[in-house]
Amino acid sequence: MSVFEIKHARKSFGDLEVLKDISVSVEQGEVVAILGPSGSGKSTFLRCATMLEELDGGSLCYGSRFAAKDENGKSVYVSRKERHKLYAQFGLVFQNFNLFPHYSVMENIINPLMVVQHMKKPEALERGKALLEKMGLSDKGDYYPCQLSGGQQQRVSIARALAMNSNILFFDEPTSALDPELTMEILRVIRNLAAENMTMVIVTHEIEFARSVADRVIFMADGIIVEEGKPEDVIDNPSNERTQAFLKKFE
Ligand code: ADP
Ligand code: MG
Repeated sequence: MSVFEIKHARKSFGDLEVLKDISVSVEQGEVVAILGPSGSGKSTFLRCATMLEELDGGSLCYGSRFAAKDENGKSVYVSRKERHKLYAQFGLVFQNFNLFPHYSVMENIINPLMVVQHMKKPEALERGKALLEKMGLSDKGDYYPCQLSGGQQQRVSIARALAMNSNILFFDEPTSALDPELTMEILRVIRNLAAENMTMVIVTHEIEFARSVADRVIFMADGIIVEEGKPEDVIDNPSNERTQAFLKKFE
């Protein structure tokens, strides 16, 4: 059974049709990389997948639990209460880290645990400490985000996403706000998660990284999936001319 499945997803902003019938299903332990030009709808896809935006049409489910069903071409969402329960099913790591600036590093990690999962503070702190250690940030719990490098901030936001023990993590260009050295630092962290069998969907422009870490690559353009398959097929031997043109820019 898939961990995550979105079927026939459609999303428009006014007259702009951003997602046009996108279907993606992700299996346990699978790493899926999404490539595509800027403006093709990758972030919108992730925002709909994580319920930050509502689909206009199509269905969305996590494991056997539906967030939205498609009824006559229109997405019908479960109740607010049911939706809230689904938030623990996934984590999202943003391009710009999205940490709360006025909370300490530790508070950024444990507050969602206490609020969403109603975890008691001592237990949340224990998990927070273990995650900071895993991210090589044991001594940074009392710091504020602005006191950390971009790479460190992104590691905090990965720790925050991991804290929920979610079934799947989504990443939206996790390294695009970082310089090359810090990019390598974050890619290493994600690679380690892949080695631990974490299920992940990663939007990235790091082609080499996608080739080496992904089980499957999806190439998106203009709100549709143009091509998908194994990295060696999509990246090294693309059959679609739009994929070819996009990848040429990275040579
Ligand atoms: P990508 O992440 O692939 O660069 P996006 O999903 O961010 O693409 O954007 C796809 C298109 O949707 C762009 O034309 C963008 O301007 C538009 N768009 C995204 N979010 C909104 C929004 N909240 N309101 C209006 N237009 C939006
Ligand atoms: Mg984007």
